[in-house]
Amino acid sequence: MLSPIDHCFFKIHRLLGPFQSRLSIRSREPLTKTLRTSRTDMKRLGLVFLILFAAVAFAADSRVEFKLDTSEADAVLAILELRAAGRQVTDSDWHRLFASEPYLRLKKREADMHRDFTDDDFRRFVQSDDLSKRAPALRHTLDAWKKADLRGAAERILPYLPADARVKASVYPVIKPKTNSFVFETDVNPAIFLYVDPDQSPSEFMNTVAHESHHIGFSDAGKQYEEKIKALPENARKAAEWMGAFGEGLAVLAAAGSADEHPMRDFNDDQRIRWDQDMKFVDQQLLQVNQFFIDVISGGFAKPEVADHVAFTFFGYRGPWYTVGYRMGSFVEKRFGRGVLIKCMSDPRLLLAKYNEAAREENRAGRIDNLPLWSTEILKAVGVQDP
Ligand SMILES: [Zn+2]
Repeated sequence: MLSPIDHCFFKIHRLLGPFQSRLSIRSREPLTKTLRTSRTDMKRLGLVFLILFAAVAFAADSRVEFKLDTSEADAVLAILELRAAGRQVTDSDWHRLFASEPYLRLKKREADMHRDFTDDDFRRFVQSDDLSKRAPALRHTLDAWKKADLRGAAERILPYLPADARVKASVYPVIKPKTNSFVFETDVNPAIFLYVDPDQSPSEFMNTVAHESHHIGFSDAGKQYEEKIKALPENARKAAEWMGAFGEGLAVLAAAGSADEHPMRDFNDDQRIRWDQDMKFVDQQLLQVNQFFIDVISGGFAKPEVADHVAFTFFGYRGPWYTVGYRMGSFVEKRFGRGVLIKCMSDPRLLLAKYNEAAREENRAGRIDNLPLWSTEILKAVGVQDP
């Protein structure tokens, strides 16, 4: 299994290739012999390695690129602090909030989701007694997040990304009425919205950043996946599109760092207990999503919006897109290794197929009580073989 250190070595080997061949061509001798020849060569070699390691460091660094923008949260807190001090909040204070990039993009996102979101509603939210009471805690949390190692959090999930995938995004800690964190416009202008939550521990916060970073890291693979499934008949394409939602469970796995770790290891006891409870029903949930895919493919939904509505319910708090996605991801990684899992992450149809392969083996061996399988007709419809 690859660890972050293994991953660095992988990059070093990749970069070493061309350097090694250039050295050999110049000296027309193997690298080992060049090492022994002369002091000048030693110096040259030293310089080459210096450049090489600088290149490696740069390459590793440049895979994560975050632009932290706290202007919305800063503007909200400025208003709360003026109110707490009994001072007047001016139009320019409100303008600073409503013109901030995170606020404008949050508004756009909520409109995309057909949710009501107006400046007047938001003004009432900022002026509420509840938010005033939470101002000191929000200030404390935001100040801590400004100093947090966001890059370090994102680097945790790099071993769970294709080698050329990058995590590039604007990061917006936001004070807002809804308590969710999410990614937005991952294909054109990637952003991570992080709900400023004073109840979240530092380890939960880092896990959340890692989780969202995994979604960002897969945006390129997502575009390629869309191309791959473009030619499928409409109903099968819809099922294949929704298979991408298992990315939630895969992000849980990546943020935990290993299939051997508890997926909620960074969270409090309540969250861990809740996850363990939900996982008791993971087999039933798989069968439920299986039926959903059959219905979508066979045209069982009167309107596409109804199918989407059902699929949205599978997000839940941490519903089947998380639990079943995690079950398949951890199962495939343990049986076939992380390399195969990453291929499955890039093409979620393969995740279902590889899961079936591993589950059939287990069922035949009788090691686990009869694991549920994805129906062959689903896999066939989306264009993959049921092994
Ligand atoms: Zn997610």
